[in-house]
Parts: sequence; C-alpha cells; structure tokens
Amino acid sequence: MKIHEYQAKEILRAHGVPVPEGEVANTLEEAVDVARRLLLRGASGVVVKAQIHAGGRGKGGGVKVARTLEDAGQYASQILGMQLVTHQTGPAGQRVRRLLIEETAAIDRELYLGIVLDRAQAKLVFMASQAGGMEIEEVAAQDPFAIHKVVVDPAVGLMPYQARELAFALGLTPAQLQPAVQFMLGLYQVFVKTDATLLEINPFITTRPSGPQALDSKLLALDCKLTFDDNAMFRHRELKELRDLAEEDPLEVEASKFALNYIKLDGNIACMVNGAGLAMATMDIIQYAGGSPANFLDVGGGANQQQIENAFQILLSDPNVKAVFINIFGGILRVDTLAQGVVQAARNLHVQVPIVLRLEGTNVEEGRRILAESGLAFEVGETMQDAAEKAVAAAKRMAVKQ
Ligand code: GDP
Ligand code: MN
Repeated sequence: MKIHEYQAKEILRAHGVPVPEGEVANTLEEAVDVARRLLLRGASGVVVKAQIHAGGRGKGGGVKVARTLEDAGQYASQILGMQLVTHQTGPAGQRVRRLLIEETAAIDRELYLGIVLDRAQAKLVFMASQAGGMEIEEVAAQDPFAIHKVVVDPAVGLMPYQARELAFALGLTPAQLQPAVQFMLGLYQVFVKTDATLLEINPFITTRPSGPQALDSKLLALDCKLTFDDNAMFRHRELKELRDLAEEDPLEVEASKFALNYIKLDGNIACMVNGAGLAMATMDIIQYAGGSPANFLDVGGGANQQQIENAFQILLSDPNVKAVFINIFGGILRVDTLAQGVVQAARNLHVQVPIVLRLEGTNVEEGRRILAESGLAFEVGETMQDAAEKAVAAAKRMAVKQ
C-alpha cells in the first residue's frame, strides 16, 4: 500500500525524525493560507509540492520553490489539478488533487537514505549514498559503489555502530554524526513499527549553517516515500485509513472489494484463473502463443458462482478486452460449479466477446457437458497450449471485426 509524502512525513515527525514545517492543502485557498502562515512565521520561502503516488515530480514540474506569497499562489494554481507526467506515472500522467506546502530549506548537501527488504538474505538492508536528489536506480546502475549498505540483524535491529558507519560513508561533519545516527535509528523504528516494505528519504539534506559555526547545520527529510505491506494492514487500522483510492486503478479498487487478486495489464486477452502460479503460467502461454494478457486475475482456490460473476464483471469493464481465457484447475472449486458460474455470468452480463476455456480436475466431464448444453458459444481447448492459441485467434478475429 502506497501513501502520500505528506502522510509519510507526519509519521516521521511522530517518531522524532526531523522534517520541514508544512501542511497539506486540498484547494488553492488552503494552499495560500498555509503559505501565508509559514511566511509569517519567518520562512524564507515555501515549496509547493504535488502529492501523487509517484516519484520524479521535481523533473515533471510538480515541485516549485516560491519566495513570495504571490508566487506561492501562482505555483499552487498551476500545479493543483494538473496532469503530472513523471517517469513513474506513464504517459497519461496522474491528476494532482492535493499539495504539500512546506517551508523551504537552505540545502547544503542532498544525500540519500533507504531501507528495503533483501529477499535473498531475508533481512532488511539500510542504504546510504552521497548521490542524493537523483534517481537512485540510475546511481545503482552507473556507480554501484556509491551506495553504502549495512545488513540489519532482525534479532537486535539497526545497531548504533551500523548507523555510524553509514554516517561516516556520507562524509558528514563531526557535529552532524550524532544527529544522523538518531535520524537513521528513527527511520528504522518507523519501518519496523509500520510493517513497511520500502522507506526512502531522497533527498536527505544537510542545511547551510546560518551562524558562524557549522554546528547549526540541520539534517532534514526533504522527501519521503513509504510503502506498507498489504498483508500486515489488518493490524494497522490507523494506517489503512491513509489509503487514497483516487490514486489507484479503479478496476483494481473494485476487484479488491471482492477479494479478487487483480492487476490490470496492457493486452487484450482477459484471464480468469485460480491460483497465482497458474495465473503466471497462463500469462506466459498467452505471450508464447503470440497474444498479450489484459490482466492478471486469481479468483482464489474456493471461488463460488458469485465470485466468478464478480470476476467477469471486472474483466469486461476493461474496454481493451477482445477475448476471455478461463483456465481453471478444479480442486476445491469443482469444474461443474465453475461451469455453472460461467454460464450464469455469461447470461446475466450478456457477454459479447468470445470465451475460451481450458478445464481440468474434479468433475471435468460434468463441467464440459454443462458448457456444451448451455447453448452459448464457448470454445474449449484440449490442452493449455491449444486453449491459449484459440484465445489468441479469437481476440484477433474480434479486433478485426471492430
Ligand atoms: P521527487 O522529484 O518526486 O522525488 O520530489 P522531491 O521532494 O525529492 O523534490 C525534488 C527536488 O526538489 C529535490 O531533490 C530538491 O532538489 C528540490 N526541493 C525540494 N524541496 C526543496 C526546498 O525546500 N528547497 C529547495 N531549494 N529545493 C527543494
Ligand atoms: Mn525525491
């Protein structure tokens, strides 16, 4: 589950990790209000930041620094409601519905901090780099040694000596070392307490000292990306409320209401499959047969007739779909139950696109009989490959017709 930058920063703040002063704004009036308050409190400027669930906003024109209240209003009216395109949104972009208005910081250095799960080691890895403010994926590809890592033992958590090691690698001044260690320990606490899957501070900045000493240089999280493990959300009711449905694909939101595992893809053959492994194999074999899947859909092991109808409804709401490929292994879900479900759904929903099935498992003979006697034009494949080829051919015929 993804959340917005302003929400992530509130969590950081609550855990004692320093972030700039600022507030979220849903309208232009709110944005100007927040900017006015920050400037009155002595901020030397404000930064207007688009809140969307994607990075790269700076390059896309979604982050602007204003020195006056007039400029702040100007930028807020430009960014609010814009269709922001970044390398993470795809060409259609994402509509900006909220802004974060923050006091500006006098940036001295832009650094990077991140925590991810290393699946191979089955441990969290804490990363730090002096190459902050740019895409870390690019740094990793071009100069992997610029990223410093420590592996965290889950039994003891991030140790202060490990945080110190990273702080040294960042080339911080002696006065910055201890605050940096506290900062990193705070991030680690946030990660573990929220059951996060990713926490990134990019940029993690040091500010230009305003006094005669380097002592008043501060450390701040200027940006924050925090994502949570969906499977752990049952024990975080307060975090679940941070979900912003407007940022998610509408069909995926609909599917999640029915506990269907659905992910929309770009192809034109809709897949209805039980079991994630079979779903992956089905997408592969469609590609192999020269087609391309419109989605990943796992209806689950114990799907019933209603669930199949729900699944159909979601699949057919995608205007790209030219054929439906149903690939079911009848185990807990018996094939005759599935066949009844498919016939009912096809009748109730007046399905217009061709349906190709490949069925195996318990009561498969009975299932085939139900389909054959339904009077509806189902195609049944002998094998998985045969069915995939039939589905690809059906989609091509349909595409030509339209
Ligand atoms: P992202 O592009 O989506 O990762 O958004 P960020 O929050 O990282 O902002 C992009 C860039 O804008 C940062 O790397 C900074 O260089 C710049 N930026 C953000 N906030 C401030 C600020 O308060 N002052 C200044 N001078 N630059 C800022
Ligand atoms: Mn960033």
